[in-house]
Parts: sequence; structure tokens; C-alpha cells
Amino acid sequence: MRAVVYEEPKKFSVRDVPKPPVSGGQVLIEVKSCGICRTDAHIHNGAFISRFPLTPGHEFAGVVAEVGPDVKGFSVGDRVTADNTVLCGECYYCRRDIPLFCENFYSLGCNGPGGFAQYVLVGYDKVFSISDRLSFRQAAFTEPTACAVHGMDVIEVRPGDDVLVFGAGPTGIILTQLLRHGGAGRVVVCASSQAKLDLVARGGYARTVPMDRSDYGKHAKILREAFPRGFDIVIDATGASAVLQQAFDFVKPRGKVVVYGVCGEEETIEVRPYQFFEKEIKLLGSFAQTHCFDRALMFLEEGIVKVDDLVTDVYGLEDYAAALDRMLFGKDVLKVLVEP
Ligand SMILES: [Zn+2]
Ligand SMILES: [Zn+2]
Repeated sequence: MRAVVYEEPKKFSVRDVPKPPVSGGQVLIEVKSCGICRTDAHIHNGAFISRFPLTPGHEFAGVVAEVGPDVKGFSVGDRVTADNTVLCGECYYCRRDIPLFCENFYSLGCNGPGGFAQYVLVGYDKVFSISDRLSFRQAAFTEPTACAVHGMDVIEVRPGDDVLVFGAGPTGIILTQLLRHGGAGRVVVCASSQAKLDLVARGGYARTVPMDRSDYGKHAKILREAFPRGFDIVIDATGASAVLQQAFDFVKPRGKVVVYGVCGEEETIEVRPYQFFEKEIKLLGSFAQTHCFDRALMFLEEGIVKVDDLVTDVYGLEDYAAALDRMLFGKDVLKVLVEP
């Protein structure tokens, strides 16, 4: 089969590799659509939990091509997606019921073979059926939606909370839709791409404020005038530490600042401890997801989370280099899908 293979960080090719043999409770999925996300850029640079050689791709959907003898509930031809997280069930954190921090955390597309290939092998306990009304392209958004569902679990929005979201990438927009659905009061998205803000406004997901990357004072002024007391929840969905740094200026007393975007591992920000003391601010992190796929699929199947407008580009597997380039450097790019 054809697959994207990284020999080491930054060095990859699309080539022939053996189709993985299927055994036990394994399901071989023929990949129909697989999203590229920022994590793939981190993996490209050898960061995050990446381990090489590696076939990346953790946001995939497709058709069951083969099932092992112990598989229950799935058969060849089923339309499916799969939770890419594989947890050991035996380590300290798994036994503590905090499997997200499994000490043997294995993630297809991050440190195990993923979906930028014709086929991907998954344990059947991680496979989820999708209905006919969900396209493979829509189903490829189950993983980013699951990350947003986990974000909602972490954030614990209260009815009427005013929320400020910095960033309008795919996961930011999906989270914004969930916030709205989950009882948030006024939601504001502040981002630098006018095209993305237009999409947010068109969908009726949130109010929008343009961000000036060269002069944060501009959007700060607009936000302060519209929300003089600030917001109950301020979310950084940009992964830019300079933006996160600014988040503390907009949070109300007892409010929450959420690290949702992925900053560089070595990046730092400066905070004034007195601000935490004086305002009783909470700082929350939201890392990936596990066990959120069922709810994510429900949100997609019910049309509560809308993703059609988020697909800006579709590439073939052979064009992975161009697809990655587009995701990294393209203007107004939201989700780039790779379809073998
Ligand atoms: Zn992702
Ligand atoms: Zn574990």
C-alpha cells in the first residue's frame, strides 16, 4: 500500500509499504479522508510525542476492509472512524481512571502508524460506525471535535458565561460552536484572518473582532470597550504564546484562562502572580482527548457541529508535501484533507 513515511523529522516520502497483517481484535480501515492539523506540523518537526519512523495522520475516516477473528460488531464494508488513542489499561494513570495521561500513551499518527496511508490498523474497541448521512469528509472531523468536547469537559462553561476565543482555526471554530450550544452567553472570536471571521459570523457562531498581529492594542481596545469587565472565560486557540500572554488582561475575577492551542514546548509567558491572587483566576489546560469520540460523533451526526465550511483544501495522498505546505503557509486555510 502507499503511505507517507517519515524516516526522521522533516524527512518524508510517499512510498510503498507492506499492508499491515490483521489479527485478533484488529480492524483494517481503508482510509477515505484524513485531516491534517497543527499537531502534524509539530510532528513534522519531531516535537509532541512523535516517534520515528512514522506514518502520521490521526483524523481519519473510511471503510472497513478486513476484520480480525476476535472483532465484534464490525464487518467488511462498514463506514467508520476511529479514536486514535490507544491506552494500556495497566499503568498508574490508567488504573487511576485518568487514561489521558497513560504512561504508555500510544497515538496512531503520533507515535504509531496513522491515516496518511491507504490503510490503517485499529483495535475494534476504538472503531465507531458512522451513519450514511455523514460523509467521510465530515467524519474526518470527529477527532478535532472530540478534542473540543474534551475542552468543554475541562472548561465547564456555566449558563450565560461570556467567552472570548482567540483564534479561528478549525478546532477553535468547532469549540466555539460547542460553547454556544453548551450555554455560553456572549461568545466573541478574535482572529487575524478576515475570511475565517466571516465564516464564524456567517455561521452565527459568535461575534467577531479582527486581531492585528502587529498591534495587539487595536483589538484590545475594541474588546475592552465592548466588554469593560472582561470575560468569564478566555480561551487561547492560536497556540501563539504572545496571544496567551494577553489573555489574562481580559479575564473577569473568578474567570478562567484556557490553554487550548498548542504553544511551542519551550516557549514561555510572563504572568503576574498578584493577578491570580487578586482576581482568583483559574488557568486551565486542555490536552488532546480520549473517550470523547462517541459524543463528538453525536454532535456531527446531529448537525450541532457544522464542519462543511471548514474544508478549504483536498489533496491526494501522493501530494502530501503540497498539502502540508498549504496547511503551514497557505492564506486563510482551515482544514486540509488528504484522500488516498
Ligand atoms: Zn488533530
Ligand atoms: Zn496506561
